[in-house]
Amino acid sequence: MEERLNIKRNLDILIKEIENAEKISITNEKVKLIAVTKTHGTDIIKEVLNYGIKDIGENKVQELKDKIDILGNEINYHMIGNLQSNKVKYIYDKVDLIHSLDRVSLAKEIDKRAKVSNIIVNCLVQVNIGKEKTKSGLYPEEVEKFIEEIIRFENIKVKGLMTIAPNSEDSKYLRSLFKQMFNLRELIKSKNYKEIDMNYLSMGMSNDYKIAIEEGANIVRVGSKIFGLRDYDKI
Ligand SMILES: *Cc1c(COP(=O)(O)O)cnc(C)c1O
Repeated sequence: MEERLNIKRNLDILIKEIENAEKISITNEKVKLIAVTKTHGTDIIKEVLNYGIKDIGENKVQELKDKIDILGNEINYHMIGNLQSNKVKYIYDKVDLIHSLDRVSLAKEIDKRAKVSNIIVNCLVQVNIGKEKTKSGLYPEEVEKFIEEIIRFENIKVKGLMTIAPNSEDSKYLRSLFKQMFNLRELIKSKNYKEIDMNYLSMGMSNDYKIAIEEGANIVRVGSKIFGLRDYDKI
């Protein structure tokens, strides 16, 4: 029960802070909040749905699929984690947005499945903005070429960029990375590819969402700030 009260309180605080950041952001855009529910059960997810959350994010295919089976398709599901091509078939037609498109082979597989189902799958291109060895995503200088390569896949709609910033306390550094992401999106926009749009910039998590929004994020993915630390993060 105490945990439940905390979730409501955490969410109220978070939403207030997102609204404050929107006001001083370079775009003043409304920001979409994705509640990242990985490791949490469907009872807790139902709880946040009651509080008005409409979008949830998961980083593992199996977990996402199991939750969709239970919760149904009233919710907007976001695949935010690494996606192996052989697992695309379990989720491509059930998610609103895949945030982790980072390889031509993956694009090919998503497109193939989507074509058979006669649907369009919305994707964000994942960028490894901190150029970290441990993270997936394209380096910023590779993104333009990648987009030109995948434009031929008619059943994929690229809708913007996503990044996971490095785990850093250095807010100046983080801000500079978020600025780079914003500028990269502007660059791609300026090419006016007619097959894609660049509406979304998905960046910002529990520790850096305020800076991300100030620098132009319009989707944030927040987990622990709402639900508390996940079990595997606790020491
Ligand atoms: C877990 C996760 C998040 C949320 O992280 P928090 O720090 O708990 O807010 C956001 N994006 C991705 C891709 C994640 O895997």
